[in-house]
Amino acid sequence: MTLPALERAYAKVNLCLFLGPPRADGRHELLTLFDSLTLADELSVTAAPSGDRVVCAGVPGRNLVADAVAALRAAGWDPPGLCVAIEKRIPVAAGMGGGSADAAAVLRLAPRLAPVDPGAVARIAAGLGADVPAQVDPGPSIGTGAGDVLLPLPGLPPYGVLVLPQPSPLPTAAVYREADRLGLARTSDELAALRDELTSVVADRLPDAWIVNDLQPAAVSLAPVIEDALQAARDAGADRALVCGSGPTVIGLYRGEDGPDRATAAAHSLQASFPRATVAAPVGRGVLDPMPNE
Ligand code: ATP
Repeated sequence: MTLPALERAYAKVNLCLFLGPPRADGRHELLTLFDSLTLADELSVTAAPSGDRVVCAGVPGRNLVADAVAALRAAGWDPPGLCVAIEKRIPVAAGMGGGSADAAAVLRLAPRLAPVDPGAVARIAAGLGADVPAQVDPGPSIGTGAGDVLLPLPGLPPYGVLVLPQPSPLPTAAVYREADRLGLARTSDELAALRDELTSVVADRLPDAWIVNDLQPAAVSLAPVIEDALQAARDAGADRALVCGSGPTVIGLYRGEDGPDRATAAAHSLQASFPRATVAAPVGRGVLDPMPNE
């Protein structure tokens, strides 16, 4: 085992998110197209002789990374005590899957620290949260079930992302409750029909009309300020502007080879009204760049 062990935890974006009905386990059926972005937290694992701990400034309370470490140990993973320090760059409680990404990053680096059964890692990922499995293996994938049944995709057409974090967080559960109150869910049959079409639609360059988020009206209903950010992204030339996941972060998508440059120009132009505006690009599949050990 080589310490420190370093790993990036990539934010996720839902390029489309179709909402289905609630299931018996309380989660909702979903059809979504995930992708992983270069916007990433940084994890550094060092030795902690007095026992495992997690250090994560800006995130009070129990950390999903501590749950991931505890679950790995319960499955027989047995390195000496560890300290996981997390440098947060992904906005918190913002719809970009930051907590899930951090937990997924720990699951990804676990085999570098001690032997672990890959089947156990997959089970732990699914138990930690619906978004975690997609983030263990970053890159584009179609998610069904509650978003945890994955069909990995080789790649997507190029794009750049303008990220507009919002002033206040939105708890994911509250957004789903609001979506239920507003009656936004599609039927299971509708979701199944969309799923059949999505694979071929993705192969056909994912038309703009498919870049939609069914949770957006619920997020806007709880945080109307989101509308201003959506309009700002459109005014700054975004090909599509939408709420990321359950929000409240707003993203502008700039499609094509020049997308990343256009997103960067947009972020600069919006700096005065959105000081936390930033840009990101897709990580791509299989081009993971583990952070070099110092
Ligand atoms: P979702 O995965 O549901 O889209 P999100 O992106 O909206 O989540 P996160 O940033 O993952 O939100 O945080 C949701 C909550 O999880 C936070 O309010 C925080 O208390 C808790 N949390 C636990 N561990 C972490 C972590 N490592 N990073 C961020 N939040 C964490």
